[in-house]
Amino acid sequence: MTNPTVSSKLYERAKRVMPGGCSRNTILRKPHPIYAVKGEGCFVTDIEGVKRIDFANNVASLIHGHAHPQILEAVGRQMENGTAFTVGTEIEIAFAEQMIDRSAGFEKIRFVNSGTEAVMGCIKAARAFTGREKIAKVEGSYHGLYDYAEVSQTAKPTNWGAADNPSSVPVAYGTPQAALNDVVIIPFNEPARALAILDQYKDELAGILLDLLPHRIGVIPASPDFVAALRKWATENGALLIIDEVITFRTNFDGAQGSYDVTPDLTAMGKMIGGGFPVGALAGRADVMDVMNPLYGPALFPHYGTFSANPITMTAGHMAMKLFDQEAVIRLNKLAERARAAISDAIKIADVPACVTGRGSMFRIHLKERAPTSYRSAYVDPDEQKALNALLDELFDNGLLMIETCSGLLSTAMTHSEIDQMAEIVLNGLRKIKRNGLIGSL
Ligand code: PMP
Repeated sequence: MTNPTVSSKLYERAKRVMPGGCSRNTILRKPHPIYAVKGEGCFVTDIEGVKRIDFANNVASLIHGHAHPQILEAVGRQMENGTAFTVGTEIEIAFAEQMIDRSAGFEKIRFVNSGTEAVMGCIKAARAFTGREKIAKVEGSYHGLYDYAEVSQTAKPTNWGAADNPSSVPVAYGTPQAALNDVVIIPFNEPARALAILDQYKDELAGILLDLLPHRIGVIPASPDFVAALRKWATENGALLIIDEVITFRTNFDGAQGSYDVTPDLTAMGKMIGGGFPVGALAGRADVMDVMNPLYGPALFPHYGTFSANPITMTAGHMAMKLFDQEAVIRLNKLAERARAAISDAIKIADVPACVTGRGSMFRIHLKERAPTSYRSAYVDPDEQKALNALLDELFDNGLLMIETCSGLLSTAMTHSEIDQMAEIVLNGLRKIKRNGLIGSL
């Protein structure tokens, strides 16, 4: 256990000046957040001096862990020459070339500052290109904070509606009804139901927004037939397919889409492509991306951003992606396979109704006997949440930083040793919550 004195005092100060005591609710934990003083490789040391293995990686955004020497060196050199200009820099062009080379579907790219902005940019580009207003998205999937993209992200049994006609549920109070009306919700991995819903709006849909390995839907992969059905429907009905790879780009050299026979019209990226700095990007078909092009007359989607493509992010991202080559991707994914297998073993040894899902360098532990297949089956009820919170506390107290859903993401800074330690801590955590009666036996 940590000595909470310093952190709790800091939190008291924080609450006086920020709502909830923070700028993003992600960092909150009870009784108070912890405060980092140092990140090094796959470890984070907090202000109390406690060092933990970092499986959260700033919510999936650090593919090489903390303070990678080559990224630091490149960024340091750029910092000496300035951090942001009202003119272009060569590194922006180099990073754009590098990203375009990673996927055949990326003909043009633009950089922004967050995943939220990348998804918003894709939606606005799709509307501008098609002249249509509605967007379809999968129930429960997280795509950031844009009004349209967040609809039904937190739908629950009391408001999610019929399985074959999910409701458009707002996240933020005050979301305009007009935004809800313009978002069509489809169920995950159910092609027949999804197409029946899409057909009702076929002349109105600008695009379909899809995450191929959605975190909030349990880190279960989209089925190839679901992806193929959405691709075909979009093409036949003049809508665009937008794939959100803000998290999943880490799963292959060319993103999660590399595992499917699909070319999206647009892809949103963010997180780890920035090498630890704020980033987003939208890439895709040249003719669609040209809605942002002002060279031949007014752009259909005028696009700006004060810090977009700033040379610090471009330098860090360029180096991070150079280091995340085919070989690094394969090594990391193999390590994650070992992690999932070790967690599976821990579940068997602890003899508890739990399972592990994931793909690429991602995993999620569910306190459910069977892996979920949809948002509704991934939904965590209050009893499960209680057990999950107890497990997360155990993992935290014993040296693991995880994402609040009990998901973990590997970084290239990890080795077998950290994976084995993680599995041991998970095993002990599962045993403990079983002993405390929060979870039964198989
Ligand atoms: N899309 C997905 C799939 C995400 O997971 C996230 C963030 N967790 C976003 C978009 C939004 O990215 P950001 O937090 O950088 O705005």
